[in-house]
Amino acid sequence: MTGRILIVDDVEINLKLLEARLHAEYFEAVPARDGPEALRICAGGGVDLVILDVMMPGMDGYEVCRRLKSDPRSAHIPIILLTALDLPSDRVKGLEAGADDFLTKPFRDLQLFARVKSLLRLKFLTDELRIRAQTTAALIGTDDVLGDIGNGGRHGRVIVVDDSADGGARVARLLASEHECSALPDAPSVTDAAAADLIVIALSSPRHDPLRLCSQLRSNEQTRQVPILLIGEASDESRIAKALELGANDYLLKPIDRNELLARARTQIKRRRFDEGLRRSLQTTIELATSDALTGLQNRRFLDAHLPVAIDRARSESRPLSLLIADIDHFKRINDTHGHDAGDAVLREFAKRVRADLRASDLACRMGGEEFVMVMPDTEAADAARIAERLRETICEEGFAIGATRIRVTVSIGLAIFDAASDNPQTLLKRADRALYAAKQDGRNRVVRLAA
Ligand code: GH3
Ligand code: MG
Ligand code: MG
Repeated sequence: MTGRILIVDDVEINLKLLEARLHAEYFEAVPARDGPEALRICAGGGVDLVILDVMMPGMDGYEVCRRLKSDPRSAHIPIILLTALDLPSDRVKGLEAGADDFLTKPFRDLQLFARVKSLLRLKFLTDELRIRAQTTAALIGTDDVLGDIGNGGRHGRVIVVDDSADGGARVARLLASEHECSALPDAPSVTDAAAADLIVIALSSPRHDPLRLCSQLRSNEQTRQVPILLIGEASDESRIAKALELGANDYLLKPIDRNELLARARTQIKRRRFDEGLRRSLQTTIELATSDALTGLQNRRFLDAHLPVAIDRARSESRPLSLLIADIDHFKRINDTHGHDAGDAVLREFAKRVRADLRASDLACRMGGEEFVMVMPDTEAADAARIAERLRETICEEGFAIGATRIRVTVSIGLAIFDAASDNPQTLLKRADRALYAAKQDGRNRVVRLAA
């Protein structure tokens, strides 16, 4: 992971040291010597994270933090405050100013990089989500794509795994002020872990092996994405490093500071929710890309991907497959007589009747214009012919409403039955198309089937 990190400190030697440490881990460090300079650089864009000293002459870190978080150009950039004084009141003030995390000087590389990586991961997800949300919003004309993920990392489901006498209970109590929290002496079940927004693991457990638990959670598909926050002692450093390598997301040292614990939990829960939001928005994007906007049926792109798979399965399992192409008769006349909007309404109603007629395992696509393809797995010739005939009747027997009037619409259907010996997707579609052409030639409003 890499990223562009703005470091803000009034003491030149601190800047140089921090810059060197970040460079050693391949991060790009941009120095700023006071608050106003930091604000200017952030406003210019391209900053992924800010590490901000609290004590600076003129504008102090809290003020810089407040200003960055209240400017829409920089509100999404995570901020780590460097607090020299280990005073809990400092942290409260930092949180109120909008800081995402703290580091108390002097800090070790492990502490620095655990925080930096956690916050960068969150930032990159947020960036990605913002871009996707913009695209999706533009495509579907809504801006509530980011809907339910903006609740600031609170009200999460948190599991604390700690078998020490009161340690787990205490951590759970602290977290319970913002989350629904349960303390367990042992590893949670996969189902419980998968449903959690955060798992807090104490490293000082005599009964379970915390590192093994981390690796199990990461290797299981269902729990791979659940954030892990470790709690350890200063002397646990090498085990913490190992756990971070195994995929734990962050850690906290005892004695536990309530604000620090809550801030770290929020960061991880936010990340988890952004992650889920991103997946959902990806799902939406895929659905948009493969479905037809007018009718909600699948589109040609989907059929092109689906038909080879359906044919492979029919062939390898020696099961029947039928395909039909339906084309509305004289559709141009409907447009010409009643207008394009009326034509659209007919297409939508047509799609609705098609959908109602098919089984869940059948696929209905709009190929374009007034032409539709239906792929029916496990369907023999006789059944397919019956289904096609039923569809033809459903269309022509019940009129289509256009405003106050009803018009008669008919459809011609070409039917092809998959022949394992000779067919591929192209030949099957071609044959259904030839059958459709024959149906049109024969006078329309009919079903024609051609042998392979
Ligand atoms: P045939 O019985 O031979 O199929 O005649 P047809 O008029 O149905 O076929 P043709 O291909 O000549 O005309 C199809 C028309 O469908 C022409 C096109 O303007 C119209 N069309 C294509 N897509 C849409 C659409 O999304 N909405 C509407 N309202 N019309 C469409
Ligand atoms: Mg037509
Ligand atoms: Mg046509």
